[in-house]
Amino acid sequence: MKNDLMDKIVSLAKRRGFVFQSSEIYGGLNGCWDYGPLGVELLNNLKQAWWRSMTYCDDIEGLDASILMHPKVWEASGHVENFTDPMVDCKECKARFRADQIEDSECGNKGYKGRKAAKCMEEGKFTDARNFNLMFKTYMGAIESEDSIAYLRPETAQGIFVNFNNVKESTRQKLPFGIAQIGKAFRNEINTKNFLFRTREFEQMEMQYFVKPGSDEEIYSGWKERRLNWWMDLGVKKEKLNFAPHPADKLAHYAKAAVDIEFEFPFGFGEIEGIHNRSDFDLSQHAKFSGKKIDYFDEQSKERFTPFVIETSAGASRGFMAILCNAYDEDEAPTSEGKSEKRTVLHFHPKLAPIKCAVFPLVNKDGLQEISHSITEDLQKSFKVFYDESGAVGRRYRRQDECGTPFCVTVDYDTLKDDTVTIRERDTMQQERIHKDKIKVYIAEKMS
Ligand code: ATP
Repeated sequence: MKNDLMDKIVSLAKRRGFVFQSSEIYGGLNGCWDYGPLGVELLNNLKQAWWRSMTYCDDIEGLDASILMHPKVWEASGHVENFTDPMVDCKECKARFRADQIEDSECGNKGYKGRKAAKCMEEGKFTDARNFNLMFKTYMGAIESEDSIAYLRPETAQGIFVNFNNVKESTRQKLPFGIAQIGKAFRNEINTKNFLFRTREFEQMEMQYFVKPGSDEEIYSGWKERRLNWWMDLGVKKEKLNFAPHPADKLAHYAKAAVDIEFEFPFGFGEIEGIHNRSDFDLSQHAKFSGKKIDYFDEQSKERFTPFVIETSAGASRGFMAILCNAYDEDEAPTSEGKSEKRTVLHFHPKLAPIKCAVFPLVNKDGLQEISHSITEDLQKSFKVFYDESGAVGRRYRRQDECGTPFCVTVDYDTLKDDTVTIRERDTMQQERIHKDKIKVYIAEKMS
């Protein structure tokens, strides 16, 4: 049942232009996906919502650091040494697995469909586990040598740490303050799976909040709550969200405390965001490796110290998938003959919906198309709006429901008399008549 639901979501995502396989005409590229016309709108809206909630305030600044960084960065951060996953190979079918994810994996031999990889492990078919570094390596410049190695960043955070002094000095921020960034990250995952959940190229939305040591635990708890509420404010159902704290013996090398916000995907709960108390690990390491002073002088207490970092690290791509799964629904809608039919609907929050409003002329004559075009053009100055004049109005509603458009405006013969239109809301399917000059305000209010 659950796989069936995931299949339906993946198929809708392709059919309606949310997500396509990368390089599809060449058979696709494992772990890479392209965002189609509706997908790029949804992804941009999600990132925009995050950017506004993080940086439109007094204490958080924005940054866009480069993807390629000095190779010493990754030595200082611990990635060259520690950013590894344990990997095992099946000696029989040659499939490769993450040793810590065997429980969730299936045997790679097509002849044994449904067989658990754990069973093959028990039978001694696997090699010993060896560590595999997840960073993509490349070379800078014309000569490929040890000295020209560069890495595609596996996380955006390091761009923030190395810019701590620059941002502090250019903005004159006082602790506590944060730096936020959205950008691509790359991990050469051993197994990519579950659509956008584990990919090799993805986007992160990270914020590092610099605090005075001693205040870190309280600020960490505050960010936990704020981040959970942010997902709920975007319409993610409370019962589909969960905190999963990392046990002390499983903490990453830099972390003093860590918790994941998990979402219930059709295949089970999975992390969409991590909140970490990174202590002073990162700034101290970069100070040590660069030989530069990276610290903070507190004017009031006259103390100099290395700030602690509270990090909120969300996946934009995984978040996108959570938003898509959360919105997917099948229900019943009335037909023009007074019966009902099954409809597929995406209940996106209006703020996230790729198209905010669709405009339909009831019929394609008597000047209704011209009025509809003029309403569309006017609304397009503020929102993404779709004009549709083909097929019965019921069919046009169904098409918009399936891509999550929250409002549909129909121009009919009454519009010719009194300039009013019907506006129909996606979730309740209720219609009301409003003046055509009020549509923009109506939608803007619902979006906020
Ligand atoms: P996981 O345990 O799932 O590998 P992680 O703990 O390594 O994830 P972080 O390093 O904390 O993840 O990254 C922060 C966020 O980046 C994650 O919550 C997730 O949303 C996203 N992310 C990490 N790896 C991937 C990936 N391979 N594909 C898509 N998103 C990812």
